[in-house]
Amino acid sequence: MEVSGTHDFGTRAIHAGQRPDPSTGAIMTPIYQTSTFVQQSPGKIIGEYDYSRAANPTRAALEANIANLEGGKHGLCFASGVAATGAVIHLLSSGDKVLLGDDVYGGTNRLFNRVFAQLGIETVMVDMTDLDAVKEAIDERTKLIWLETPTNPTLKIADIKAVAEIAKANKVTLAVDNTFATPFLQNPLSLGADIVCHSTTKYIGGHSDSIGGVLVTNDPDLHQRLKFIQLSEGAVPGIMECFLLLRSTKTLHVRMQRHCENAAKIADHLNNHPKVEKVIYPGLESHPQHELAKRQMCGFGGMITIYIKGGLEESRAMLEKTHLFACAESLGGVESLIEHPAIMTHASVPAEHRAKLGITDNLVRLSVGIEGVDDLIADLDQALG
Ligand SMILES: *Cc1c(COP(=O)(O)O)cnc(C)c1O
Repeated sequence: MEVSGTHDFGTRAIHAGQRPDPSTGAIMTPIYQTSTFVQQSPGKIIGEYDYSRAANPTRAALEANIANLEGGKHGLCFASGVAATGAVIHLLSSGDKVLLGDDVYGGTNRLFNRVFAQLGIETVMVDMTDLDAVKEAIDERTKLIWLETPTNPTLKIADIKAVAEIAKANKVTLAVDNTFATPFLQNPLSLGADIVCHSTTKYIGGHSDSIGGVLVTNDPDLHQRLKFIQLSEGAVPGIMECFLLLRSTKTLHVRMQRHCENAAKIADHLNNHPKVEKVIYPGLESHPQHELAKRQMCGFGGMITIYIKGGLEESRAMLEKTHLFACAESLGGVESLIEHPAIMTHASVPAEHRAKLGITDNLVRLSVGIEGVDDLIADLDQALG
C-alpha cells in the first residue's frame, strides 16, 4: 500500500516502505539475506540491486519506512547510532567547526572530541537551551550544529525551530539526534532541521535486541553525499537487523503511548516521594522548559531522571534493590531499566564537566518500560524504602 504523509502515524508505521513481496505475495518484507545479485549481462542488473553494501531490498524497505515516520524523503540505515553520527561528520573537512550540545550522548562527545578532532575538525560545546550562546559561538568556520533534545540524563529541552533559524541565517547544517523523543513525539525536519539522526538501538528497535542507526533528510544533495559516505565506509546494518527493525516500527506508536503514560504516572508519584529530592521529567510543570516541551513534542517520553535524598551509598542501595527495573545501560526497550549515570553511562565525562551538568552521585536515570505501571511503582517504592 502506498501511504502518504497525510495518513495517521500508526498507518504509516505499519505500511510505509512496504508492500507484499511481488514474487510470492508474502505480506512481510522478506529477509533478503544475500551479499550479491545476479546480473543479466555485465553491468546490466535485473532489478535495482547489485551488491548489499550499496543497497539491499530489506534495508531499502526499512529506510523508506523510517524516513516516512520522520516526515522525510530519504533514509539511510547504519550499523549503529554512532556510525550514523560519523557519516554526518564526514560531510566536514579539516578546519571546519562544529557546535555540539554540552550534554549530548557520551559516545557522540567522544566521536567529535577524540576521533574527528585528530582530523582537524574543531568542536565547541554549547548549552543549546541558551540561544544567545549558540549565536555567539558561530563564526565563518562553523559548518554543523549537532543538537540533542531531550538531553541525557538531565532532559534539557532545546528549541529546535529557534536553533534552525539561527543555523539557516548562518548557512550552517543542523543535525538533530532524535533518539530520546522518537519520530512519534517530535519531527525535527518539520521544525527546520536538515538531518535527523537516531540510534535505532533504543525506542525504534524497542526490544533491546539490536544495535543500529539511521539518518533522514529531505535535501536530495545532502542525501546523495551521505549515501556516498555510507557506501564508501560500509558501516551498514546486517539484513536480519533490518528485518527486526521493520517489525519494531510497526508498534512504535503503541509502545510510545504506553511509555509516556507510565512515565507520567511514575514522575508524579516520585515527585511526592519522601526519599526523592527532585524529579526531572519534561511533563512536570516544574521542568524549566515544560512549555517548550508542550509546544515541540506531542508527549513527554519514557525517560525520568531523579535526585534521590542521600549520596552514592543510597543510590547504590536503590539500584541493587529494584527487581523489575534492571540495572543496565541503554534505554528505550519494553522492559524498564535503571542506571547511575556518574558511574555507568557518563563515567567517561570528566568529573568537573559532570558537576557542571548536574550529574551528581545521587542522580539516578530511569528508562520506564511498558510493564504494568502499578508493579513498576511498587518496585521503586520498595527499593527506595
Ligand atoms: C545510544 C545513543 C546513541 C548511540 O547509538 P548506538 O546505537 O549505541 O551506537 C546516540 N545518541 C543517543 C541519544 C543515544 O542514546
